[in-house]
Amino acid sequence: MAEPIRIGLVFPQLLGTYGDRGNAEVLAWRLRRRGHRAQVVELPAGLDAYMLGGGEDLNQAAAVKLLLGRQGRGLRVALAGGAPALAVCGSLQLLGTTYLDGAGRRVPGLHLLDLETVAAGARCVGEVVARLPDGSLLTGFENHGGRTRLGGTAEPLATVLRGHGNNGDDGTEGIRKGNLVATYLHGPVLARNPALADALATAVLERRGDAAALEPIDPDPGQVLHDARLRAAGFGPPDGGGRRGIPRWRRQRRGSRRWRPPSSRGRAR
Ligand code: GLN
Repeated sequence: MAEPIRIGLVFPQLLGTYGDRGNAEVLAWRLRRRGHRAQVVELPAGLDAYMLGGGEDLNQAAAVKLLLGRQGRGLRVALAGGAPALAVCGSLQLLGTTYLDGAGRRVPGLHLLDLETVAAGARCVGEVVARLPDGSLLTGFENHGGRTRLGGTAEPLATVLRGHGNNGDDGTEGIRKGNLVATYLHGPVLARNPALADALATAVLERRGDAAALEPIDPDPGQVLHDARLRAAGFGPPDGGGRRGIPRWRRQRRGSRRWRPPSSRGRAR
């Protein structure tokens, strides 16, 4: 039997605001539901996936110190080598080049992502809805003082439709570099966005030589939550979910009147 898939939770005592550790549990659950053995373990060296949560400024600085030292070597090597990983909020910031925090301290980053962050102005707090390049929507909530700018060649994860995202003015949310996904969204974000969770699950399996497509989970509690949170933010059909957890609008026949998010209404089709 194949070795269990091992998902690393990175310093959950320091990086784990708003239940971000749930991202590891969700990823393991979605893999187990497809018949794979998956475990959540606390930290580095040769794991199949890494989950890094958010952290307030002091915890973030403490985590960076550890990650730049010997204890962080396994993680740095794994991420540089393309291991599937999710970094949320403070962890997005610490994977960049620097973070200038609210007290004016310059915290060095791990230089794994082309971005830098400065804490400035009012905190960015509230629900976020963002559009992925494939047109689907991400839902989450944000709470950060840092404003992040991506470098010229960096690829944003999504485009903000509601909320602030990376900085509140250039419309970018998060960053994606190969199998490394970084975002400002809590939720936990993988609980609210099953398609994102399955993209990471697929990357994990592909790196283990298993290229089979993931079969749907039906009913999928992640999809029910995703649709409910979008509806609560004004980005969903008004009539709620439908049979067996599959919202009615997803079951509509082609050609029927389709719901579209408010931001796209009135635009050219
Ligand atoms: N310390 C960061 C900020 O406030 C990250 C906060 C978080 O991870 N929730 O910008």
